[in-house]
Order: sequence, then structure tokens, then C-alpha cells
Amino acid sequence: MRRFEADTLLVATHNRGKLEEIATLLEPYGVTVVGAADKGLSEPEETETTFEGNARIKAHAAARATGLPALADDSGIEIDALDGAPGVFTANWAETETGRDFVMAMGKAHDSLVESGAERPWTARFRCTLVLAWPDGHDEVFPGKVEGQIVWPMRGNQGHGYDPIFMPDGYLETFGEMDRWEKNRISHRADAFAKLVSGCFD
Ligand code: IMP
Repeated sequence: MRRFEADTLLVATHNRGKLEEIATLLEPYGVTVVGAADKGLSEPEETETTFEGNARIKAHAAARATGLPALADDSGIEIDALDGAPGVFTANWAETETGRDFVMAMGKAHDSLVESGAERPWTARFRCTLVLAWPDGHDEVFPGKVEGQIVWPMRGNQGHGYDPIFMPDGYLETFGEMDRWEKNRISHRADAFAKLVSGCFD
């Protein structure tokens, strides 16, 4: 496992929220975090069929373009009765001509489950894969997940994306109802980040 020894980390995202979350997490290690937008990077096309594949595309493109080590993530939800869909197409299911509509996307997931005739519990998991890539082409990969089930109707208005229909194992609340700090402690992203920090920063 290669350790992170540089001063600056490029985070290959245009999402300010993600950038701030990562900067906070890496604060104790004295790392300066910069975002893709700060460097004028465009978003590469995510053409792979796995979270790891797409995170690698984003991390390597950013590392090559800037000469800095770059961190990228790719995430989504897998529903077992739908053979793992929406999976890498989680964001695509929400796409409309006027932007992303996650209420529609959650409705699509529910309708597909009803059509499939699958019995409850509708087991599912969120996955997140983080890839840290260096300009010389080396990378390290950190997968994270949280197991749970799909519930209907939607519950809660905390969080984002598919949070209102995902209830993690061991809890009676959906991610949409759960306190944000609690979700951030047990989430797929927290799992992957813990592995990144212990592998490359600790
Ligand atoms: P991307 O990894 O930024 O391309 O986004 C993947 C998709 O998965 C987005 O549509 C997110 O809304 C969804 N997603 C990823 N993580 C979460 C989460 O923690 N809660 C709800 N939805 C999520």
C-alpha cells in the first residue's frame, strides 16, 4: 500500500459538499485539499460498468491533468431483487430534462420491485468506491458498503438521493430520517474513508 506523502490532494469532484467533507476528514493530516472546479477540470465520461471502474477513470484523469495525487469516488445503490440495479446507473435513474428528480427515481425503484413480484424484505446496499491515483499511474482502491433494505413509502427528509427509501440493518429509521452524524458514521462512504485513512494517511 502506498502512503500519501504529498502536501496537496486533488479531489476529483465538482460537488462542494463532498469537497468540504473530505477536507474536514483530512484536516488532522495537514493535507491541502483542492477541488476539480478550482483547477478548471471537466468531468470525464463514466463509461465503466463498475463503481471501481468509474472511480478509477475520474481519479486517473484528474491526476494526469494536474500532476497531483487525486481522489475520486463513485457510489450508488444495489437492489438484490432487481439484479443489482440501479447500481452504476443510480444517478441516471433520476435524470430528467430539467435536472435530477430523486422522488421519481425512488418511485421507479419501487415500481420495479412491485412488478418483479419479489417478496419483502427488499434487501439492498449502498456502495462507495474511493480511488486514490498518483500522476505516475499507481492507484489504491477502497470499497465501502452498508447493507439494508428498501422501504415504501418514502420516509424522512434528511439527506439526499435515495436516503428516504433505504433502512440500514439494525435500525428502524431510514437514512432520510436518521440524524446526519449518525448516517455519516455508518454509511458506505464512512466505511470506504476509514479504509483510505488507515491505508494511506495514518
Ligand atoms: P455519484 O457517485 O456522485 O455519481 O452518485 C451516485 C448516485 O448514488 C447519486 O445519484 C446519489 O444520489 C446516490 N447516492 C450515493 N450515495 C448516497 C447516499 O448516501 N444516499 C442517497 N443516495 C446516494
